Amino acid sequence: MSKREPIRMCIACRQKASQHTLIRLQHNETSIVSYDGSGRSFYLCNMCVQDKKKKKGLAKRFKIEEAYVDKLLKEIDG
Ligand SMILES: [Zn+2]
Repeated sequence: MSKREPIRMCIACRQKASQHTLIRLQHNETSIVSYDGSGRSFYLCNMCVQDKKKKKGLAKRFKIEEAYVDKLLKEIDG
């Protein structure tokens, strides 16, 4: 690593990783969305994005539909 990068933590598995390897999301009133530069954000790692159990946990945590979390993360993950 040539440059010092900010380290962030995945909220699902609590693994720490370079910010650029994590997916940044934000939680608004009713859902989670891709981070748009304002408000509170959180990070997810690539592993958790593809982990069914972790997605279930997120849905519970943010009180939203699991299917929605699944859809959102698929869109973000490309
Ligand atoms: Zn993770």
